[in-house]
Amino acid sequence: MRVDLTGKTALVTGASRGIGEAIARRLAESGAHVLVAARSLDAVNRIASEITATGGSASAVQLDITDPNVRDVVKSLLESRPIDILVNNAGITDDDLFIRMKPDAWSSVIRTNLDSAFNITQEIVKKMIRARWGRVINISSVVGLMGNAGQVNYASSKAALIGFTKALALEIGSRNVTVNAVAPGFISTAMTDAMTDEAKRQLEGRIALKRLGTVDDIAYAVVFLASEQASYITGTVMNVSGGLYT
Ligand code: NDP
Repeated sequence: MRVDLTGKTALVTGASRGIGEAIARRLAESGAHVLVAARSLDAVNRIASEITATGGSASAVQLDITDPNVRDVVKSLLESRPIDILVNNAGITDDDLFIRMKPDAWSSVIRTNLDSAFNITQEIVKKMIRARWGRVINISSVVGLMGNAGQVNYASSKAALIGFTKALALEIGSRNVTVNAVAPGFISTAMTDAMTDEAKRQLEGRIALKRLGTVDDIAYAVVFLASEQASYITGTVMNVSGGLYT
């Protein structure tokens, strides 16, 4: 099976590093033109240039998904080209035990992880519906399925994204637009690199495959869901956690 996304445009939010960067690179490798979006302009410029230099097609977009004018920014992107594949990847954590959690920690996580998906997706799916083709892929988390102490805000936002995925899939399936979620487990990133060996070993012990995931483990799942080959898959949550949660 070869995924060919030639002629498609993908918007990946939170693509300045980590999972989003890998998703942007793998979608471009499959032939899509990728709008590499995040707040850090230097980083998205560098990633888009690297993609272009290696034969792919990409543009950098400075986008703060919590900006009150985010819909206008998305509308202006849509004026230059249609967006066929939307990956709502940008997300934050602000952990604390529930009884200590500040209202700001609750609202900033919900605003970034959930409200932004509402704003961005609504503008983009209107066009996908008209085009009778589209892929929306929401990056949730296994924490949204299984919970995690210290992350009531984050787990709520990620569980809500799953409800969002399932309900929207039912509404727009008849227009050939699929909506799916990917739920990563523990992924090796700068954050986990900083952990002690002992802490890493304990973490790995909880995972059936006995290793942390890589950013590419998530990116390949996204590429598949974006592909023509996944055209009969909608409203699902792809659990990419190495068996951390089954
Ligand atoms: P990182 O913290 O490494 O990267 C987050 C990305 O989101 C950055 O590109 C950041 O870019 C962007 N971002 C944050 N806030 C905003 C904003 N307001 N507007 C636009 N972009 C923003 O995260 P990961 O790569 O680890 O995670 C990516 C996604 O995967 C998240 O949704 C996360 O919840 C989810 N996930 C991650 C797991 C993991 O183990 N890493 C496990 C399960 C889920 P910039 O700062 O430049 O704006």
